[in-house]
Amino acid sequence: MEMINIAEIFGEDVFNDTVMQERLPKKVYKELRKTIDEGKDLDPMTAEVVANAMKDWAMEKGATHYTHWFQPLTGITAEKHDSFISPARKDGTALAEFSGKELIKSEPDASSFPSGGIRSTFEARGYTTWDCTSPAFVRHDAAGATLCIPTAFCSYTGESLDMKTPLLRSIEALNIQALRLIRIFGNTTSKKVIPSVGAEQEYFLVDRDKFLQRKDLIYTGHTLFGAMPPKGQELDDQYFGAIRERVAGFMKNVNLELWKLGVSAKTQHNEAAPGQHELAPIYNDCNISVDHNQLVMEVMKKVAERHGMMCLLHEKPFAGVNGSGKHDNWSLVTDDGINLLDPGKTPHENVQFLMILTCILKAVDEHADLLRESAANVGNDYRLGGNEAPPAIVSVFLGEQLQDVITQLVSTGMATSSIKGEKLDTGVSTLPYITRDATDRNRTSPFAFTGNKFEFRMVGSSASIAEPNIVLNSITAEAFADACDYLEKCDDLEIGIHDLIKKYATEHQKIIFNGNSYSEEWVAEAERRGLPNLRTMVDAIPALSSENSVKLFGRFGIFTEAELKSREEIKYEDYAKEINIEARTMIDMASKSLIPACLKYIKDLSDTVIAVKNAGYGSHAAEENLRKITALTDKAHNALVKLIADDEESLKIPEGRERAEFCKETVKKDMENLRTPIDELEMLVGKDYWPMPSYGDLLFEV
Ligand code: ADP
Ligand code: MG
Repeated sequence: MEMINIAEIFGEDVFNDTVMQERLPKKVYKELRKTIDEGKDLDPMTAEVVANAMKDWAMEKGATHYTHWFQPLTGITAEKHDSFISPARKDGTALAEFSGKELIKSEPDASSFPSGGIRSTFEARGYTTWDCTSPAFVRHDAAGATLCIPTAFCSYTGESLDMKTPLLRSIEALNIQALRLIRIFGNTTSKKVIPSVGAEQEYFLVDRDKFLQRKDLIYTGHTLFGAMPPKGQELDDQYFGAIRERVAGFMKNVNLELWKLGVSAKTQHNEAAPGQHELAPIYNDCNISVDHNQLVMEVMKKVAERHGMMCLLHEKPFAGVNGSGKHDNWSLVTDDGINLLDPGKTPHENVQFLMILTCILKAVDEHADLLRESAANVGNDYRLGGNEAPPAIVSVFLGEQLQDVITQLVSTGMATSSIKGEKLDTGVSTLPYITRDATDRNRTSPFAFTGNKFEFRMVGSSASIAEPNIVLNSITAEAFADACDYLEKCDDLEIGIHDLIKKYATEHQKIIFNGNSYSEEWVAEAERRGLPNLRTMVDAIPALSSENSVKLFGRFGIFTEAELKSREEIKYEDYAKEINIEARTMIDMASKSLIPACLKYIKDLSDTVIAVKNAGYGSHAAEENLRKITALTDKAHNALVKLIADDEESLKIPEGRERAEFCKETVKKDMENLRTPIDELEMLVGKDYWPMPSYGDLLFEV
């Protein structure tokens, strides 16, 4: 058995604090830390020294190239590689160089990334700038070793063209407002409040050879046809079941790769569906967790192929089978280690906790539409509201104990007892003492309080977690700011705090729901409460640039209205493009392989009918099947003709909301109408005739 020493390999490919201390002159190290910790401007001389040290370190690890690693609005990462080679000298030798300038700034062609009209090709300047708060790393792959430098991506005129810029802005806004709030509660020592995030990642593994036999998987990442296998997940024998050998080998190597990259992959287990699994790292600073989640997805895809498998990150790889999501665990932790979402050990912290909790209720209630939008993508539309993922309605789960406190606060303005007969300690106010983890679990809530963190469960498995965290950080910053604006002017702080907690709890209790969010009753109840139910991505997009959102993001300089409008535009375009690709993939598969396979079977069946007749018999089986299959094939053909026409029609509509609406209302329905008869045909046509692996082949033979 080969021995793996986690402590030794953990972070070995990361230019982390230890490496910096070892390799940088003390003064330079201190300067850099000031930039990382306090946001101080980085002077060119420091950058020069850091760049040089980084290059030497990376080259010792075999790196020949470096890249500014960034997250444009495609939802995935992008990079442009440059080698360290500087122009060859007269004597024919070359020098390896990497300057401070190259570390800090690069200029990829911005026009080839989505910008929603902010950029056009004739003014293509865009810059990536070094984000020193997320450590650089060396990545090894078939291209060799590359020094990857996390960067933000902006246009020449300063508009953000990526996920990281607004994320960093939101983290900073939240820091400022959270500090303001805890100062009011007497905390004079914490210097920083950092949103902390742990993202649980779900995924499927399928055999690579089988994957390659399915155009839908190749082009869209999920299946567009497929009848259910005789056995699905009804036995619940997969969840936490024993991990199969090939999958175990994959997980081992994923962990190894991630550990080297400093990603603390911690837990792994099988998920509800066959072939489905989950990986969770230990939580980290929000910015780093967002980058790490991108690395998790990249590494899983790469390692799967090495093991003869493909990793499916799509939200709904198989209709009728549990889909995949991402749980975004979110809390607020100070630089000196206090988790502000922990109910705390003293009544004083306890009151602060109730203030923070009710602020978050207010934030989520006032921006439920925006939070829902932050989890919207084309894949998630196949999943949200199904009986597996939280519905498209945002609500907050608090659990029995906190609910009881809120109920008392709302009804009497005082909470004088705490469930479970806990000792009552009113402290500075008439509020009960709360302990963590008195709550039960509720897996159906989209936004659940789980002891000392919130878990946002709507996010899709393929999505970047940047957007949900931008929204969480921003809306919380706003609620904190509103509270501070009021409290800082209060003559009697104690009464002020008490009144505000009561006010927020009363006004925003409608967002709390502790029951089964998957039920039909909840949909009706939520409607009565006036909570938004934005069923699809297209329905959710307008929340981005609503008056409420423009005010929110503008107040903290996170997005300008122009940036929001451009992001909206990109989303509509993405939606239509993805649906068009799905439609064309279905058209391709149906016309070139599925319907021909049915016709071939029809021909053989009719030959059989004739042969049996000639022999003086009649075959009920052959005739009956022939009739059914012929009728269904005609139905599929008609649906195909309509899909082709509507797909073409959609392209005549101007890009943007209108085209997206058409795709959602018409093209998607056509797709369903084509799928239904074909899935029925799959159950009737001989297995040898069917031109691609079935759900059963894909799910049970990994
Ligand atoms: P659960 O069983 O509730 O899903 P886990 O303990 O498995 O919780 O944690 C799930 C994810 O939440 C992990 O990535 C974990 O690191 C993260 N997490 C735990 N505590 C916190 C916290 N205070 N803030 C943010 N994330 C956290
Ligand atoms: Mg979870």
